[in-house]
Amino acid sequence: MRVIYEDGAPGPVVFAAQELQKYLEQMVKDLAQAPFSVRLQIDAGLCDASGGCDAFLVQVTQDGGVIAGGNPRSVLLGVYDYLHHLGCRFLLPAQGGEVIPQTERGSLCASYQKSASFYHRGVCIEGADSFENIRDFIDWLPKLGYNSFFLQFQVPYAFLARWYHHDENPYRDAQSFTYGDAARCMEELETQLEKRGLLLHKVGHGWTGEALGYQTASWDTNKETVTPQVERFAAELDGERKLYQGIPANTNLCYHSEEAIDVFAASVVAYAKEHPQVDYLHIWLADDYNNVCECEDCVKTTLSDQYVDLLNEIDRRLAEEGLETRIVFLLYQELLWPPVKKRLIHPQRFVLMFAPISRTFEESYALEQIPQALPEYVRNQIVLPASLGENLAYLRGWQAQFEGDSFVYDYPLGRAHYGDFGYLHIARVIHGDIQKLREMGLNGYISCQELRACFPNAMPNYMMGRTLFCEQTDPQELIREYFDAAYGAHAREAQEYLEQLSALECCDYINGKGSRIEAEIVHRMQRLRTCCEAFHPGEWQSESKTEQLFYQILEHHRRTVLYLAHAVLLLASGEKEQALEAWKEMREYICKAEPQFQPYLDVYRILEVTQKYTGFR
Ligand SMILES: [Zn+2]
Repeated sequence: MRVIYEDGAPGPVVFAAQELQKYLEQMVKDLAQAPFSVRLQIDAGLCDASGGCDAFLVQVTQDGGVIAGGNPRSVLLGVYDYLHHLGCRFLLPAQGGEVIPQTERGSLCASYQKSASFYHRGVCIEGADSFENIRDFIDWLPKLGYNSFFLQFQVPYAFLARWYHHDENPYRDAQSFTYGDAARCMEELETQLEKRGLLLHKVGHGWTGEALGYQTASWDTNKETVTPQVERFAAELDGERKLYQGIPANTNLCYHSEEAIDVFAASVVAYAKEHPQVDYLHIWLADDYNNVCECEDCVKTTLSDQYVDLLNEIDRRLAEEGLETRIVFLLYQELLWPPVKKRLIHPQRFVLMFAPISRTFEESYALEQIPQALPEYVRNQIVLPASLGENLAYLRGWQAQFEGDSFVYDYPLGRAHYGDFGYLHIARVIHGDIQKLREMGLNGYISCQELRACFPNAMPNYMMGRTLFCEQTDPQELIREYFDAAYGAHAREAQEYLEQLSALECCDYINGKGSRIEAEIVHRMQRLRTCCEAFHPGEWQSESKTEQLFYQILEHHRRTVLYLAHAVLLLASGEKEQALEAWKEMREYICKAEPQFQPYLDVYRILEVTQKYTGFR
């Protein structure tokens, strides 16, 4: 058995060959008996025919054949898709989450061609993550058809440090972890991305803090030192130029200041020059709102007009340096309002990213509810839109003046998912959202999310990846496929139970939306507890290690939901103090169990979200 490719083939093709060899050897016992060879090759015509999107062709008989991709990454995607076609299931972004079936030479035949529905298909790092969590997630991405990963900030220190410092887990001692450690992890992670040909997105927030003289790789406060830049060009609020709540990443600049623009643009150009491996460089402003500059010059224009000026200046300087860096700009908070006068001079350099962070997750994007007019923009008094229609109205406003490449940056697995205990509601919302992307005029989706979002399973990310690659994917089919592989003989039982939990979801409530005292939520939590009490996956038996793992996670999840539903029930009944006590019981339970279930539940993040947004404090 041989997997062959041309001498000097690109890294992702070589890696694809290793992967194909590795899996086929585990799957087929009679391969050694007669020659079997598969050739991996690049055929650029495949991508040309699909508007530049990933595309591949699989033609294999029982003697071997060919897997061709429109680019090196597409060859790898083709290999994983072929393995999926043969029955392999990649169920978790962690070790032990795969199902590799035994099969025979005669079952290796396949002949088909596929191309991705959307160009941008990726995930952005959030939460608290060990190096292994991120590495395993990157390994998982192409197995589900994704092609992009986003490491936030210049160095993704925040996410790694939260894990190694064990923030929010009082039962574990903090380990030492520095910015330098994070930089070393990043280098290795970028190597892993390169090996697979995945598109690398970088930075986003942090530029404003850097321009103010702070190394900004997190949302940490920095109240001790006030740099001279802060007094010169931080945004003026109530007559004062200072860090906003002491947080450099959340502080805006006075974008009228020529010095501020010069420092900002120069740092972007210097970064772009030093990091040619970055495919998409994100230029975002402060990560907070209603804190934009009130100086006499800034009030004469809008933040979006100033943003476009800044982007044009960055574009001009990059062009001067001969750099073709793609810049992603963000529609978010104040920047949801389209600029009044200014326009991007060279739209081809830019990618529009629409980030409806305050949207509801009770349902998918609704195009029929878009209002004609936008609310008036009032400086430092904006209210973030929850309705899907209003969110989409802002997108329409920007699209009226920018026709370039674009994608949505959304948050179903950022906070709201903690309110869907069955994970099937949020998986269906994701599916529905992706099916609306084309009509919304967007060419893909990057999910800003916890990487450890597999509680009780990784169905939402599975749905997301597969639907982004093929928008016509049937969600019921996909759920069936996933549950069969994960739960074996108990698949239907598990699904029926999780459907019940999902029908009682409280995504918006967990995310801090709506009244904190709410009879409907009380009622749902009562029913949820009854469902959980009657269910006993801990008693299930299986020979399969993968199924055993899924049963253990499901039992741990069941117990956690009993705690959390009790706490939410009390909070929604107005029993704030008792609610906090119940929440602390949940915290103790999940913190103590974290070593055993580390890759599946982000303990840091669920505790942060339920305090900061749900209201356990
Ligand atoms: Zn100003």
